[in-house]
Amino acid sequence: MRVRTPLVVGNWKMNGLKASAAELGRMIEGYGPELRWKVQMAVCPPATLIQTFCVAALGSRIWIGAQDCNADVSGAYTGDISAEMIADCGGGLVIVGHSERRTKYAESDAQARAKAEAARRAGLVSVLCIGETEAERLAGEAIAVIDSQLAGSVPDGATGSNLVLAYEPVWAIGTGLTPSNADIAEVHAHIRQRLVARFGREGEKIRILYGGSVKPANASEILGIADVDGALVGGASLKAADFLAIASVYA
Ligand code: PEP
Repeated sequence: MRVRTPLVVGNWKMNGLKASAAELGRMIEGYGPELRWKVQMAVCPPATLIQTFCVAALGSRIWIGAQDCNADVSGAYTGDISAEMIADCGGGLVIVGHSERRTKYAESDAQARAKAEAARRAGLVSVLCIGETEAERLAGEAIAVIDSQLAGSVPDGATGSNLVLAYEPVWAIGTGLTPSNADIAEVHAHIRQRLVARFGREGEKIRILYGGSVKPANASEILGIADVDGALVGGASLKAADFLAIASVYA
């Protein structure tokens, strides 16, 4: 029996308009009882669609979340939304520390950690992203980078019910490239060992997703690797058929 329920999260990034609710509708239709028992599914649309999607997904068990949040409850942060606002819309989770936020907006480990703490304060689950760049992997520094991100961005008091980790090698995001199965296995086993060293038995309950060019064609291979508890999916989560095909690996 699995210790952790598999989770497949879709990150829609800056894609989607109100009409995209139809795509969510197809996901809801395809997320039947045979799948619901086996795998939890979540969709993180742009902030403009969170409320619409939450209403559309009511009763479907598809979890709706956000792609980022500010660490404060409210205040003078033009353009930002807080974890409380996401919860107020009905959202249940939020992605924090995504590599696109870390590189394009220079977000630090400390900020990712503060956002994960804000998510917990608001009753949300955070999906905290970590992963090395191509240069770091080529330099043999992947594990050291992961260690430093884990130390800097995972909050104290993390549990299997308030935190999900996503290992996303930066060079695999949106590129069609993926690490070898052995490399994914090595990093996931390492993260698991670090979580257990820090959180004891609770560290066994924190799910570790893999993210980076997961598609229907490679999902079964990647999701079958030890300590891979699901996937964070970008491009392939925009189409219900592809997203459901990935989740159906668990059916
Ligand atoms: C992501 O944005 O987190 C991601 C994994 O994207 P993609 O699946 O498109 O590589």
